[in-house]
Amino acid sequence: MTQFIFVTGGVVSSLGKGITTGAIAVLLEKRGLKVSIQKLDPYINVDPGTMSPFEHGEVYVTEDGAETDLDMGHYERFSNATINRYSNTTTGSIYSEVIRKERKGEYLGKTVQVIPHITDQIQEEILKGAQAGTDVALVEVGGTAGDIESLPFLEAIRQFALKKGKGNALFLHLTLLPYLSASGEMKTKPTQQSVGKLREIGIQPDILVCRCEQPMTQRMREKISLFCNVVLEDVIQEKDVDTTIYEVPIDLKREGLDDALVRHLGLDKGSVADLSDWKALRDRFANPKGEVEIAVVGKYIELHDAYKSIYESLAHAGAGNEHKVRFRKISAEDLANTNPQKALEGVDGVLVPGGFGERGLEGKINAVQWARENDVPCFGICFGMQAMVIEYARNVVGIEGAHTTEVKPDCAHPVIDLMQEQKSVEDKGGTMRLGAYPCRLAEGTRAADIYGHDMIFERHRHRWEYNNDYRQQLEASGLASSGLYEDKGLVEIVEITGRDFFLGVQYHPEYKSKPLAPHPLFLQFVHAAIQYANTANRPTTQPVSAS
Ligand code: GLN
Repeated sequence: MTQFIFVTGGVVSSLGKGITTGAIAVLLEKRGLKVSIQKLDPYINVDPGTMSPFEHGEVYVTEDGAETDLDMGHYERFSNATINRYSNTTTGSIYSEVIRKERKGEYLGKTVQVIPHITDQIQEEILKGAQAGTDVALVEVGGTAGDIESLPFLEAIRQFALKKGKGNALFLHLTLLPYLSASGEMKTKPTQQSVGKLREIGIQPDILVCRCEQPMTQRMREKISLFCNVVLEDVIQEKDVDTTIYEVPIDLKREGLDDALVRHLGLDKGSVADLSDWKALRDRFANPKGEVEIAVVGKYIELHDAYKSIYESLAHAGAGNEHKVRFRKISAEDLANTNPQKALEGVDGVLVPGGFGERGLEGKINAVQWARENDVPCFGICFGMQAMVIEYARNVVGIEGAHTTEVKPDCAHPVIDLMQEQKSVEDKGGTMRLGAYPCRLAEGTRAADIYGHDMIFERHRHRWEYNNDYRQQLEASGLASSGLYEDKGLVEIVEITGRDFFLGVQYHPEYKSKPLAPHPLFLQFVHAAIQYANTANRPTTQPVSAS
């Protein structure tokens, strides 16, 4: 029988519930348990696919093509759990299902209400999220205890745990112990109040995980235990990490969290979580042999979360190469009408991530041109790959007016064009080319060499595509098509033959990189950047003449 762990958060948002949940999954898996993970999000969008990255950070795409919250990325990076379309549920998706049933007459004339209809639907979704054969289903409730919008979720998990029976479900609450520098102490009151909020609706947390800047004193632990009605050994400290978020599983194990979890759920088989691989990873992060600097040229550069998986993948590849990767975040828009030399000078690699719409595209194209002309390692992802194709068509093949019809629908040379099946699509949500597709790699190319396979599966999220009408010309001028989706003849990877790393991919490899298994393309890109940094033939700004 599957046991359930419900993770809620209190005091403030952005406490790192997703990371904590991922770290818990690591600890349970290391004790030999099979884990599934799910997040319940209280917003009314059906999924985050239609939200701006500025609103909600990156949209994370699952293997089966769901557009989900970026916490799914944390779950996949930390654990081996299968993350799919049932792993992320929102208020919007719950309501649309309830309203669908109501229109079908499935409620047999009843008045449809938050309790029991919405709360029942939430519980149905929780059951769908717990996959077959799972020992422990981890369920994170988004938002903060006390929010109006998360109330139906908290009521639903209360009912769910009651039905499961004692010992088959536990509540873990993540809170903050704010540090007041004026008095030099951490405060427990917000934690007490947040637990009070949960108790008002009938949830008594079994375990409290307390985020803090400083170590918790024994006195504080005792106070929290007493006032929050949680036994002393179940008050767990989660202190801010020193080097990397991938230390969190190690820290939480040291604090005894895995013992507390298996004790509550009656799953203690005497096994011990061996975290030697995570410790080795932490050491690689803590003791790099050198540093490289990668420019990330994007449209949503102000918000780190907007390119979360990209930054994480670069960090994994850095650790994999025993180097620290520094990010130079460059707003693509700023490069639109200038020579990017000043902004890019000194970087060891240029990464152009995905994006949508006109703003920033010309800047991305300029960044690619600079990297190509100066022989700097360059990695284009999705819109970034499309920018590479446009740049090559314009500046190497000499096709004036080469463009994407996304930005210029009536351009003379649509080297990037809307896919046939997208032409009749009107709805915005969930209608892109989404999820994993096979891609055959062409023998003898850099891509095939890096992957070491001839068939790969990578995840997509786009509507536009390389236009095969220009393929012959581009290939003849040196832009090889190194990966193909054979069913439709779509070019998925381009590369400049003979370069160590000048490669663009139509898909999103960043969704599949893990700290313990960095993605081969990122690994090789960072490797190329290290090589480049060592050659010291970087382009430098010409001294300004005195005149
Ligand atoms: N805007 C481009 C398209 O829809 C690229 C999308 C992306 O980068 N994810 O094809």
